Amino acid sequence: MELQGVGVGRSVAIGKVVRMPDPLPEPKDARHSGDAAAEKEAAASALTFVAADLRARAEKADAEANEVLTATALMAEDPSILDSVNELIDGGKAAERAVFEAFTSFREMLISLGGMMAERATDLSDVSQRVVARLRGVEAPGVPQRDEPFVLVADDLAPADTALLELDKVLALVTRQGGPTSHTAILARSKAIPAIMGVAEALELADETLVIVDAGAGTITTEPTAEQVSAAEARIAELAAAANAPITDGALADGTPVPLLANLGTPSEAAQAVELGAEGVGLFRTELMFLDATSAPTVEEQTKEYTAMLQHFPGKKVVVRALDAGADKPLSFMDMGEEVNPALGQRGLRSLRVNENILRDQLTALVNAQNATDADLWVMAPMVSDAEETEYFVALGRELGLNTVGVMAEVPSLAVLADQVAERSDFVSIGSNDLTQYTLAADRMLGTLAKFQDPWHPAVLRMVKMLGDAGAAAGKPVGVCGEAAADPQLAIVLVGLGVTSLSMTPAALADVRAELLTVTLEQAKARAAAAINATTGPTARDAAAQAA
Ligand code: PEP
Ligand code: MG
Repeated sequence: MELQGVGVGRSVAIGKVVRMPDPLPEPKDARHSGDAAAEKEAAASALTFVAADLRARAEKADAEANEVLTATALMAEDPSILDSVNELIDGGKAAERAVFEAFTSFREMLISLGGMMAERATDLSDVSQRVVARLRGVEAPGVPQRDEPFVLVADDLAPADTALLELDKVLALVTRQGGPTSHTAILARSKAIPAIMGVAEALELADETLVIVDAGAGTITTEPTAEQVSAAEARIAELAAAANAPITDGALADGTPVPLLANLGTPSEAAQAVELGAEGVGLFRTELMFLDATSAPTVEEQTKEYTAMLQHFPGKKVVVRALDAGADKPLSFMDMGEEVNPALGQRGLRSLRVNENILRDQLTALVNAQNATDADLWVMAPMVSDAEETEYFVALGRELGLNTVGVMAEVPSLAVLADQVAERSDFVSIGSNDLTQYTLAADRMLGTLAKFQDPWHPAVLRMVKMLGDAGAAAGKPVGVCGEAAADPQLAIVLVGLGVTSLSMTPAALADVRAELLTVTLEQAKARAAAAINATTGPTARDAAAQAA
């Protein structure tokens, strides 16, 4: 049987399925048999077990995962939770129910506090489920622990689950929900785990089934034949060889340079990006540093972070994006209130404009970092709609002392007005994730709409061409920093459409570098011409392949 979904990355994996356990049902509102002391002891020992288990996993995890796990262990050890469990048991509740109710009331309290506290509420549910599972003697929810590597199949993954995936254990990821630009996909790509998302029949895959997951093709082959397994093994070996090819600057076969840059979220990721051959940074997502902040970070705090980042790239280009708050990236200190359609609401530059003090502080911190380091700092605004917004941002950046100021092309109106924008901006960077979402009017967070979230769609490619042509006419660089740049075949088409640099998660650099070296600029243009004349995303991909 072959299942189809939207692939993330182009790697291939062979392994057995392990299903993510279903969430536990709510424990019944049962009373204990009368032995309160025994119930209390069982609850206390389950809490201690879960805390110790989380701590043991924290020790083995990387820094990011360690932080999440340690914070979660602390919740299990919180004495006020135990007090409230004991009180409920004294009132006659059985241990499981007492644990459930104690965590639920803490959760509700956190939610009522809002902001960062509310974000922790999900973690509390996770601890509660683990303790109840221990009391019941069943497997804890979350990513299963196994000795052998496996293919993880889930409905969807919470960001914390994805952050904690053990890379040596999870060969591939298959989910029913999620699309290629959902945050699960972005994390999977950054960890170089092949993933296929939006697989309608994912939950029909039974534990222990042998599967081949081919992210490049977006297919899952169940119970493959011996020939299929050896073909997949050969492909895995071929991809491993490409990943170990020498690191050179990005270029086409005829020597046309195509700088390959990194997408980063924190300065701590910079060293690895340099190691993987990033020629600079094409997208620094500044909001990721402030997701947990309850008040706007100060100019001093921001100056420190940006300087730390820029110091990794002396003499190199670093493109920093101004805060992109709203929709899929909520920031509690820039709360826009209730919006029915947050993706169409106050986000990106719109929210910065109504909070101009926050924008001015950020740009001032960036000017400080620019003047304190040797990096070539470029700053851009997200979600810009037209020439007027471009003028506003560029003028403000210049007034505060930035050298190079540009805009992101994420909204179709900006592509339609590309000539007006290119005249007013130092550069344009295409955010293909949002440009696809808005061009096809399909929420990038919805798994059911994953097939619309396809940057190969000719409507998206034609927008890229409008931007590339306008950039060439005005002599301004036009980069791509969305997930599209990380798809090696699409990268060629983007260059053929006039894109001058590509920025991606560092794990994707080797594959894109290798693929660009296989074509000349003329050949890239021929593939681009074939793709934009197709009528759908999949046929555009095929047309580009046939033009090869
Ligand atoms: C994009 O939209 O393509 C982009 C790069 O920004 P983000 O994914 O952070 O919205
Ligand atoms: Mg975006």
